[in-house]
Amino acid sequence: MSSNSGQPIPLSAAELLTLILQEWLKHPTGNHKKVATALNERHKAHDLQLTGNTVKRKIKEARDGGLLAYKPRRLDTLADRVRVEGGVSGTYPQVQVVETADAAHVAEAVADHVVHAIRNHRGRDDFHIGFFAGRTNSLVAKALALRFARAKEELDWKRRKEDGPTHIHFHSLVGTLDAHDPEMNPNSFPLYFVQLRDAITASCGPDRFRYHSFPVAGAVAPPDFDRLCETDVVAHRVRTVPRFDIIICSCGHLGCKYTLTKYLKEGCETVPVLSGLCDELESRLKEADCIGDVAWHPVCANGPLDLSVLPLRMATLLDLREVQQRAKGPVANGQVVVAVSPCSDPRCERSKSELLRWVMQHGVAHHVFVDSRSAREYVGEGTVPVTIADERED
Ligand SMILES: [Zn+2]
Repeated sequence: MSSNSGQPIPLSAAELLTLILQEWLKHPTGNHKKVATALNERHKAHDLQLTGNTVKRKIKEARDGGLLAYKPRRLDTLADRVRVEGGVSGTYPQVQVVETADAAHVAEAVADHVVHAIRNHRGRDDFHIGFFAGRTNSLVAKALALRFARAKEELDWKRRKEDGPTHIHFHSLVGTLDAHDPEMNPNSFPLYFVQLRDAITASCGPDRFRYHSFPVAGAVAPPDFDRLCETDVVAHRVRTVPRFDIIICSCGHLGCKYTLTKYLKEGCETVPVLSGLCDELESRLKEADCIGDVAWHPVCANGPLDLSVLPLRMATLLDLREVQQRAKGPVANGQVVVAVSPCSDPRCERSKSELLRWVMQHGVAHHVFVDSRSAREYVGEGTVPVTIADERED
């Protein structure tokens, strides 16, 4: 196409992006060079002169700018089968299965659920969210920060002529003070909000968010926990536990990276009489039939693990029994969400079907969000092997 003067009419950035994305979607493995060649050929009149690298950059820009997003399918039939397998007869726990092998997608589904809960929150009362530790919780916090940065679309307070909760409070329910891995630590989740502060302030107004830390390491000896609770900052947190509107928990394999085993080991190191246990901790936990952790507490198939096998306690603001207690109450009094997401340890091949079984059987959640692989294995379908022909990037 050309103008009266015979010169090609340049495409706007948005028009070019549309062509690139349309063509890119036709190439299942997203080969950027093929996309560039096809577009240069088809739109000769525009003299595009695209290269594979330009296509790659444009797609990255679209993704970073929020124009392009992958939203995995919800598998509602599989979710129903999980509820049947779990013997659920009432309304709760509700189950959402996300078709993915990526923990970030499960976390995004949880973040959408939290935003929905905030939208449905009555009046201007403060809204309290409690976070346990771990990679999935971190991804939920990150996804929430992005949603609040775009709150005009997401929360819609202005159009509905509502202001939403006066304050939204983020509470760390556990501290894992690990200098090498701050992402695991809910005390560091406010970082995501600080990084997007200008956009969040523009969308949600100033001073909407409050953060409450819990400055205690992941696992300590019970007498040490009692002493910590006498210190001002911990005593204040324990005294002022709110009526949480939503509590977010996750679960992890025993022994995998990013799970609580290492914090238990660190706990052993801080207790002189337990220091000899560090090396044999994992085998002790296995002997006690520990299958992993739920809400930062070790569990075995028939219930929470009796930690008297190791004289330690998990240093959390709420323990697993209290979480279960809350999960038995009505949603209106605060809901408990458990994310069962693909293991973040790159060496790990296992699904979390066993932990999903625990969550379904032990009344620990109103809402369960689970990845499709764990759900399939749980209902007896086994896992579906995946092969992807890997085209080389240019
Ligand atoms: Zn694992």
